[in-house]
Amino acid sequence: MLPTVAIIGRPNVGKSTLFNRLVGKKLALVDDTPGVTRDRREGQGRLFDLEFTIVDTAGYEDEDPDTLPGRMRMQTEAAIAGAQVALFLIDGRVGVTPLDEEIARWLRGSATPVVLAVNKAEGKQGDNGILESYALGFGDPIAISGEHGEGMADLFQALLPHI
Ligand code: GDP
Ligand code: MG
Repeated sequence: MLPTVAIIGRPNVGKSTLFNRLVGKKLALVDDTPGVTRDRREGQGRLFDLEFTIVDTAGYEDEDPDTLPGRMRMQTEAAIAGAQVALFLIDGRVGVTPLDEEIARWLRGSATPVVLAVNKAEGKQGDNGILESYALGFGDPIAISGEHGEGMADLFQALLPHI
């Protein structure tokens, strides 16, 4: 059985875009409109010669902000429970938001190892988010661009010890 990588993060950070890149097919829905991806999706991912099952978590993006964190928490916990590693994505152009901090707290409370990736970091646009992300407490973040395929070698290096 392949090891499992769960992509975790608040809506719109680029989870489905990265999932699609790693799976190599248009399996996950990606859209500019938050709220498009409804389901948890699984695919077979590949990064260089690493093969794994990859899980894309959907965000309940258009939900009432008061109930969103609770729904996301259940989904996040379900995804990481069966995973060897949680790939926690934040949006480097936006920086760390209160919801990112909340997700970071859930992840710290779980036994699953966490790799923190700062997405949308192409062209140094994520530099500010990279600096801010150290405060989340997961060590050195990996700067990536799921859309443009940047940072994939660094991501490989970071995932390798866990899968
Ligand atoms: P999800 O809600 O976390 O699954 O996010 P999506 O994958 O649906 O992406 C949300 C938006 O961010 C879409 O408009 C994507 O095109 C955009 N996006 C995703 N990855 C990147 C990236 O690496 N760079 C930039 N600039 N935009 C991205
Ligand atoms: Mg999505």
